[in-house]
Amino acid sequence: MVAQVHGVVVSGVAGLVIRVEVEVAQGLPSVGVIGLADAAVGESKWRVRSAIGNAGCKWPAARVTIGLSPADIPKHGTSLDLPIAVGILLATEQIPASSAHGATFIGELGLDGELRAFRAALPAAIAAQRCGIKRVYVAPGSARQVCVVPGVEVVVIRDLAHLVSVLRGEAPPDAIPEAEQLNTATPSFDMCDIRGHAHGRFALEVAAAGGHHLSLLGPPGVGKTMLAERLPTILPDLDEQTAIDVTSIHAVAGRLPAGAGLVSRPPFQAPHHSASATALLGTVRGHRTIPGALTLAHGGVLFLDEAPEFTRPSLEGLRQPMESGVVRIMRAAESIDLPARFQLVMAANPCPCGHGVGKGASCRCTAMAKRRYTERLSGPLRDRIDIRLEVLRPTMGELAAQAGDSSAQIAERVALARTRAAVRFSELPWSVNAQLPAGELRRKWAPDAGGCALLTEAERGGLSLRGADRVLRVAWTLADLCEEVGPGRDHIAMALGLRGPESGPKND
Ligand SMILES: [Zn+2]
Repeated sequence: MVAQVHGVVVSGVAGLVIRVEVEVAQGLPSVGVIGLADAAVGESKWRVRSAIGNAGCKWPAARVTIGLSPADIPKHGTSLDLPIAVGILLATEQIPASSAHGATFIGELGLDGELRAFRAALPAAIAAQRCGIKRVYVAPGSARQVCVVPGVEVVVIRDLAHLVSVLRGEAPPDAIPEAEQLNTATPSFDMCDIRGHAHGRFALEVAAAGGHHLSLLGPPGVGKTMLAERLPTILPDLDEQTAIDVTSIHAVAGRLPAGAGLVSRPPFQAPHHSASATALLGTVRGHRTIPGALTLAHGGVLFLDEAPEFTRPSLEGLRQPMESGVVRIMRAAESIDLPARFQLVMAANPCPCGHGVGKGASCRCTAMAKRRYTERLSGPLRDRIDIRLEVLRPTMGELAAQAGDSSAQIAERVALARTRAAVRFSELPWSVNAQLPAGELRRKWAPDAGGCALLTEAERGGLSLRGADRVLRVAWTLADLCEEVGPGRDHIAMALGLRGPESGPKND
């Protein structure tokens, strides 16, 4: 008799549905696994054998063949233990023949038959749903994540003996556990913590509203990190698809506690400048994909403090994801694409010693050293940064001034501006002003006559073509924040102000 069950393996941060076929035939008792299984899958037969015995069922005294398909895709890990066990119970008629119809089984089986939460249960359930599978059996620790997948019935199972009882109709499944409170990335931060820095607070609001990458230039300890950490607090909640992607990524990375539900707020990642390119871009260890900081920042903010101190391969590695929203990890025979659409905030000192701001009286760096330092961020990376802010130490008067708007107040304005842009771009493949392609900017998204005149004037004064593109993108966001139909002279003037100092090479 041949039984068929569906299971799921995880490749990168996505699930892949696997058909498990179990044949129990007469012959000398033996067991074989075919279909590109790795060692962990191959050992599955021994774990399943113990688990079936401990669940009070019988392992057949016959020749057992386990086939995994599609046969040409390598299968890793222990997520197929449970579907293999179900296949054997089906093939030996220990559970009803119809019990695996339209269902998949997600979990790792202990020798004692206990069902453990599967780290990547969410991407697994999404893959199952896309294959038309309507019912998912999971461990209690995976239930909160999986129940957000639309159109899927979640059946909560404690162990193999419990599963057998449920499939035989002898016992009810467990209830879905209550969601555990997640510690979000920046729960206690608020924009109203920032005293002074009126310019910086405004730049953050504009960056949030238009999805613009931002750089902060200023001496050490002036408040760059404090500003960057508060950007997520004024960004809107993640949309449903991004929330599912972000939750899948953090689950695969092992960053979500068991019992956690959907991540709904933008993540914040701040890797140290000594981090390796691998830690930033991600890697594959054995058969496990380890997402890097760029992927963990997907849907949120990537903050690089002391950006010029990052290694050249790390900084170079940012370019492709900033263009495509994807990090590609190469390994021996295949490549894995991980999502990495983040908002970048880079902070840098004005010069190696950090004192070269304003009149720079105490700076002892040579002109050469300064130039070399700023050039580390030159070229294509700088090209993608629309807002460059110079952060100065607030005066005593500014520090004593009243607190500004709270994150909640600013987030409301940001959401309104984003809605205006989303409506304008509803037929187009992008949704925020930062994604406006350079080729289209001048033709389709020009400012009014006064704005055009000011932009032309700035170009005569030395503003490059690419610089003008960035000014125009930011001007659109300013118009959205002011609830106007398009950018005019005032918005262009303000956007020119947000471009900040030309500290890098002049040719950009
Ligand atoms: Zn210096």
